[in-house]
Amino acid sequence: MQPIKLLAKLTTKTLNLTGTFGGSGQDVIDWRTAAHALAGLPSCPTNWAYFRYVGEETRLNRVVRSLTMHITLFVKIRQYKIKPETLNGIVLASVYEFVQPVCGECDGSGLAPGQKATNLDALICTKCHGTGRKPLSNRRRCRIIGIGHKSYTSAHDEVTKELLRLISEWESAIFKNIRLKMGDEAA
Ligand SMILES: [Zn+2]
Repeated sequence: MQPIKLLAKLTTKTLNLTGTFGGSGQDVIDWRTAAHALAGLPSCPTNWAYFRYVGEETRLNRVVRSLTMHITLFVKIRQYKIKPETLNGIVLASVYEFVQPVCGECDGSGLAPGQKATNLDALICTKCHGTGRKPLSNRRRCRIIGIGHKSYTSAHDEVTKELLRLISEWESAIFKNIRLKMGDEAA
């Protein structure tokens, strides 16, 4: 598969969800292609790639573990008081946000259409805040977290943003790796 086709597939595919994460990918990448394209990536983005794009849902546990480890430290540094079960809910809601359909404003790029590259902040799509996915409503997010939507604090929101940032970072690493591994086959 050509890298451009593979990338197109990666950015437009959405998992067919039953329940929260129960569905299997309907348009998943062949594992041989994936193994080649993902070789050399660190373990966190690798687990994410296999979960998100190859349809290996058993990787979700490892994804959740990595996110939880990262965010527990973040919460400690910021001295937020968040219950473990709430934190777990925020992690799941953030993963859920990334399996949403592609944002209609930026077509999944996460970048604001027609912006000049003078100011980095101005480049980020204002609708999805750079995630490239349709944003989750606060009500929906709180339902996944298991709290009332009025109980969603600014600390909860900071944690959500940090998780979305981390997953975006994994996705950039994945795309970069794919270009690197498959670029030589483009011609
Ligand atoms: Zn967007």
